[in-house]
Amino acid sequence: MAKVTLQHVDKVYPGNVKAVADFNLDIADGEFVVLVGPSGCGKSTTLRMVAGLEEISAGSIAIGDRVVNDIPPKDRDIAMVFQNYALYPHMTVYDNMAFGLKLRKFSRQEIDQRIREAARILGLEQLLERRPKALSGGQRQRVAVGRAIVRKPAVFLFDEPLSNLDAKLRVQMRVEISQLHDQLAATMLYVTHDQIEAMTMGDRIVVMKDGLVHQVADPLTLYDDPADMFVAGFIGTPPMNFANGQVSGTGEHMMFLAEGGVKLPVPPAMRASLAAYLGRPVTLGIRPEDIGSLRAEQDASLPRLKAKVDVVEPMGSEAYVHLSAGPARFTARTDPHQQFRVGTEVELPVFISKARFFDTATEQRIR
Ligand code: ADP
Repeated sequence: MAKVTLQHVDKVYPGNVKAVADFNLDIADGEFVVLVGPSGCGKSTTLRMVAGLEEISAGSIAIGDRVVNDIPPKDRDIAMVFQNYALYPHMTVYDNMAFGLKLRKFSRQEIDQRIREAARILGLEQLLERRPKALSGGQRQRVAVGRAIVRKPAVFLFDEPLSNLDAKLRVQMRVEISQLHDQLAATMLYVTHDQIEAMTMGDRIVVMKDGLVHQVADPLTLYDDPADMFVAGFIGTPPMNFANGQVSGTGEHMMFLAEGGVKLPVPPAMRASLAAYLGRPVTLGIRPEDIGSLRAEQDASLPRLKAKVDVVEPMGSEAYVHLSAGPARFTARTDPHQQFRVGTEVELPVFISKARFFDTATEQRIR
């Protein structure tokens, strides 16, 4: 096991494609870090640079205390699990797992012992003599993980390993990989575009966009304290509601006025910082669960959002109510038994103390 350190890492592909810029991260020994962001944000490139499959254009990468910039992939003490599993079709599960160890001249006995151990951890004991084509997608993915485990690497690297699985199996494998991490106490770096995978698996999450790191934090900090509008909108489903507007008034009379007429009081904790934004464009962010919940309905002191009901989506355990007020759009996450009629005006209570405010121009959080 080992820590991983990336310092000022850049990647520029031929043709001056800037894929990753000034990436800095300290991954602790045994930590599970997830890189997440939309397609093309540079997460695979970052992982592949740690693996040594891509050269870095600037900066330095260390695994343990050793800088690996010029060390080939096979000598970096990493094991990588790919999206497409990359299993050898003509070899049995056993031989697929043995292959890397044979190359490294491990004894037969050591190889056998490691494979039996990995097969036990992953529930593959009955499948060792099968070939990949006789396995389900989930089983193949387990073999790919098994092949990494038998190597006992200092660091596990995962590149979207669950993308080829159906939704139900993805959830199951998500839990299995988390359990595996707990069992092995291994350092893991995991790439996904799926924010739910990131939130449920990562000790810490790195949110990237356009080659830049927007925030590095544990899941709840990302959710409650997003650094900017990108992170706020990327993490959470349905996404955070944003309304453009401005603040006016001072002290307890300070209000946020959204385009379209929505008017909400500024919570006391935000008055001092928003005083600097009087008359300037400000964006309010509020999560769907902070509008119109049954719990909010029981609190008469909360301000209310006046809006028109456009669409109601019953989800079973909850209902998403889509609202509009002029150009402003909001989604409320409500109890499915609350009755909302499309086309009517409603006044829904808002947990305004949970609202987050952003500088509309820079998209940075106002704290
Ligand atoms: P992600 O994994 O987040 O989808 P990538 O790391 O694959 O993103 O890609 C980051 C950026 O680098 C994208 O703009 C992509 O088009 C570009 N890119 C990736 N690989 C290459 C390559 N081999 N040559 C040129 N550009 C590349």
